[in-house]
Amino acid sequence: MKRAVSLKEISDGRLYGPNDLVKADCRDCEGCSACCHGMGDSILLDPLDLFRLSTHLKKSFEELLADAVELHVVDGLIQPNLKMAGEQEQCVYLTEAGRCGIHPFRPGFCRLFPLGRYYEGRSFRYFLQVHECKKQDRAKVKVKKWLDIPDYKNYETFVLDWHCFLKDMEQKVEQCREDEKIRQWNLELLNRFYVAPYGEEEDFYEEFRIRLAKARADLGLHEGKRE
Ligand code: SF4
Ligand code: SF4
Repeated sequence: MKRAVSLKEISDGRLYGPNDLVKADCRDCEGCSACCHGMGDSILLDPLDLFRLSTHLKKSFEELLADAVELHVVDGLIQPNLKMAGEQEQCVYLTEAGRCGIHPFRPGFCRLFPLGRYYEGRSFRYFLQVHECKKQDRAKVKVKKWLDIPDYKNYETFVLDWHCFLKDMEQKVEQCREDEKIRQWNLELLNRFYVAPYGEEEDFYEEFRIRLAKARADLGLHEGKRE
C-alpha cells in the first residue's frame, strides 16, 4: 500500500530483511479482527493473490468480482482490491467468529500486516507500522515466518517484478495524453495478469514471468535501473 507519509512517522525507524526478528506477532489476534474492517480499497490484490483465491475457492476472476473483489484506479492503473461489505464494512471472508475464512491462502497484504514494504531500487525491505495493529504486546517473529508464504525466494522476485512493472506502467500512463489508449492498456493488463487462468500452483511464477516479459515487450517497457 502506498503512503504519502514519512517512514519515521509510521514505523519504529528500522528496516528489516526476511531473516530479521520483528515485533509483529500479534499472537493469533486473540479476538481482534480490527484490520479486517474499514480498510476501504487499500487491500490491493496482486496476480498471485487472485490466482490463489481463484484456485482455492474454485472461482473465476469474474465470479470473484461478483462478491469479494472490486476494481479501482491507482495512479491511472486499474487494480483489484478486497471488498469491504455491509454496515460493518468488513471483509467478506471474515467469519461470524471473527476469524479469517481463507487464512491458508489469504492475500499478501493480510500476511504482511502490520508490516509494510519499503522499496529501494531493485530490492525492498520491510518496516513495522507502529500505529496500525491494535495489539500492543506483540512478540518477536522472523519476518519470513510471519509472512508464511511458500517458496519465499520466488515470491520475493515476483513482488519486485510486479512492483517495478507497475511503476513503469504508471510512468507510461502519466506521459500518455490519449484516454482510449490508457483504457486499452488497462484492459489488456487485467486480461493478461488476472483473467487468463494460470494452470497449476507450482507453475505460477514461471507462467507469470513469461506473461510479464511478453507484456513488457509488447508495451515497449524495457527494464531499467530503478530509483
Ligand atoms: S489489528 Fe493486529 S491483532 Fe487485530 S486483527 Fe489486525 S493484526 Fe490481528
Ligand atoms: S482476507 Fe482474511 S485477513 Fe484479510 S481482510 Fe479478509 S478476513 Fe481479514
